[in-house]
Amino acid sequence: MAEQLILIVEDNEMNMKLLRDVLSHRGYATLEAATGEQGVALARERRPALILMDIQLPDISGIEAFERLAADPTTRDIPVVAVTASAMQEERAQIEAVGFAGYQPKPIRLKEFMAFIEQLLASPTAGGESA
Ligand code: MN
Repeated sequence: MAEQLILIVEDNEMNMKLLRDVLSHRGYATLEAATGEQGVALARERRPALILMDIQLPDISGIEAFERLAADPTTRDIPVVAVTASAMQEERAQIEAVGFAGYQPKPIRLKEFMAFIEQLLASPTAGGESA
C-alpha cells in the first residue's frame, strides 16, 4: 500500500518537526511548506491526501491559502485541517465558515490529533490520488 502524502504548511520549525516526526512515525509521507504561497503551489503540484494548515503564516494567512485551494479545481477536494494556537472565537468561526475539514489546537495533543487525522483519511470524502 502506498504511503499517503500529507502536506504540512507551518512556519514554526518546532511545530513542523513535531508534525513531521509524528506523521512519519505513523507511516505517512510528508511534504513541507513554510509559507502560504509555497503551500498552495505544492498542493497543486503534488495533490496530497490531506493538508495541515497553520493560520498565522508570514505571507498570506492560512485562511487565504485555504480559499485559493478551494477555488482551484485541482485542489478543491483535498481536505484541509486548520492547526492553530489561536483559540480566538472570531478566528474559529472564520475557520468553520470557509469550509476547512476540521480544526486542531496547538499545542498539539498527539493522541487526539492522530485519531482525528486517521479518521479523516479513512473517510470516503478524503482526497488524494489512489494510484
Ligand atoms: Mn505560524
